[in-house]
Amino acid sequence: MGFFNLSINKILTRELSILDKARIRLLYFGLLLAIVGLGALYLSVYLQNLHFMTLMAGGLLVAIFALFKYLTFKPHWRTISHLLLVIGTIVNMVTVFVILQDVNIIPIQITILVILFSFYMLGQNWGMFFSLLNLLPVLIFMVMKYDHNYFIDFKPETADESTTIIAVFANFILIIFIHSHFYTAFLKNIKQLKDNSEEQAALNIKFERAIEKAEKSSQAQSEFLSTMSHEIRTPLNAVIGMSNLLLMNNPRQDQSENLEILKFSANNLLAIVNDVLDFNKIESGKIVFEKIKFNLVDLMHNICGGQIIKAEEKGLLFKLDIDSALRRKVIFGDPTRLTQIIFNLVSNAIKFTSEGNVLVRVTCLEDRHNNITVGFSVKDTGIGIKKENLDTIFEPFTQESITTTRQYGGTGLGLAIVKRLLELQGIQMHVSSKVNKGSEFSFNMEFPVATEVAIAKEKLADPQQQQAMAHVEDPGSNLRVLIAEDNPVNVMLMKKLFSKWRIVPTIAENGERAVEIMQYGNFDVILMDLQMPVMNGFDASMEIRKMTDPAKANVPIIALTASALFDIRDQVTNAGMNDYVAKPFKPDELMEKIQNLVATVNN
Ligand code: ADP
Repeated sequence: MGFFNLSINKILTRELSILDKARIRLLYFGLLLAIVGLGALYLSVYLQNLHFMTLMAGGLLVAIFALFKYLTFKPHWRTISHLLLVIGTIVNMVTVFVILQDVNIIPIQITILVILFSFYMLGQNWGMFFSLLNLLPVLIFMVMKYDHNYFIDFKPETADESTTIIAVFANFILIIFIHSHFYTAFLKNIKQLKDNSEEQAALNIKFERAIEKAEKSSQAQSEFLSTMSHEIRTPLNAVIGMSNLLLMNNPRQDQSENLEILKFSANNLLAIVNDVLDFNKIESGKIVFEKIKFNLVDLMHNICGGQIIKAEEKGLLFKLDIDSALRRKVIFGDPTRLTQIIFNLVSNAIKFTSEGNVLVRVTCLEDRHNNITVGFSVKDTGIGIKKENLDTIFEPFTQESITTTRQYGGTGLGLAIVKRLLELQGIQMHVSSKVNKGSEFSFNMEFPVATEVAIAKEKLADPQQQQAMAHVEDPGSNLRVLIAEDNPVNVMLMKKLFSKWRIVPTIAENGERAVEIMQYGNFDVILMDLQMPVMNGFDASMEIRKMTDPAKANVPIIALTASALFDIRDQVTNAGMNDYVAKPFKPDELMEKIQNLVATVNN
């Protein structure tokens, strides 16, 4: 059955291009037309008893039919075109040199047919080849015919007018067909290109909308987290503050233990909220690294100070080993971020080690005078990490196993934050670990070195350091404090806190009120909450800085902030404030800041 199936549909497959489909259709219908034309020609020359022509027309008919059959069997349009062009060339030559021994309209038509067909089907090179192959003999014949009557020893057969009409007509039909067919195909091709580009444009619009939507939702998400964390931090601040106050009130032994647990849990919760907020900030690309002066030795001592106590509580030996070459250097960098990285690594080392030691090593690897490379390493003798988990522990919210969560708690965000903080600075973290033997986390960081002499400026470089060194006077002195704070719980907390130092602060419930109060009263220091209704802390500070009385305009202002924004330092200084404390603050730390600022202004 398949052998007799001559349908075109079975050879036109979907994956063919528009032009190739056109080529196959051209062959299919062109061959059919040729069969009809040749059939008519055959009859005509047969009836006129023209033997040679009958033979040729018959032979051609068989050949064309065979090609047609081959095409419907396998659509090898290239091979068939070559065969057809060879046949066409032979027919052309035989017509010119043998049958007609003349160049009339028919050989010219055949030549045109070959030209059109070869270019459309086989392209430039083959088109040129077959065109010349057919053109040359016609030209040569016309030139040579001057000298001969008959070209060869064969009397030309003269067909009657009807044969010529049939041949001319059939050839013209073929020429028109080939041309119109390809013209349509080219138009279709252009239309398809246009449609494709329109489709592409529509897709692009869809893409842009999707990206916009995703960006909006990620922005909404990060805003939500930001607001949430602020909302959570405010009551947490009160909880931690109240526990501090109660602990200062000489509680009973059992109360004191409960309060410590309360304070510890609230601090833990705060650390988690901070981690989530931090991670969110890093992920949304909102993090900017600072370039401020600090001394690495001081910073490392600060970070590890609290950790040493924790390690000792667990019976671990804690060793901090800092290269002496770093002692006199003042370097530029982001101490807050570096603290976060080292703190996380050291906390983990202590957390996941039950016996042995934790070694923190800081080495100056290269000193190029205006630039140093420092190697940091945190090594422990703890539970270690399985080789196959070495990558996953850096994924957010991932811990090594469920047992880890059960046994040690945590969110699994610490290392994710550390890794991203390093990667944003183009630094890679290295980990080597053996189960039950211990782990080592290490990385190298480059710092520009300040030209100034270290030792003397070392302390100035870090205001916190400076304050830590400052002598803490009896805080009971008669400080006049104005507190701008809208949250009643915080107000109560502050009042209680200051009452410990025998200070009665004045309270302003918003920024505008603070400015008003400042106009009438005199204060030594203002504690300014940043987020307040009516007028926020930034605007209020700017208003105060504009006051005509220099004593008022220069009053020290300390910002109180509940949000852990990274760029808060810049914002606070830009609004003319002197310093800031993040809620929940340590009472002593706040008092130190106040006293330092007041002392500076008075000097
Ligand atoms: P978390 O400490 O909150 O669990 P991290 O992202 O800091 O989250 O750490 C992810 C996991 O990596 C930890 O849960 C732990 O399984 C593993 N890990 C990190 N540091 C160490 C270490 N020093 N020793 C053993 N395991 C560690």
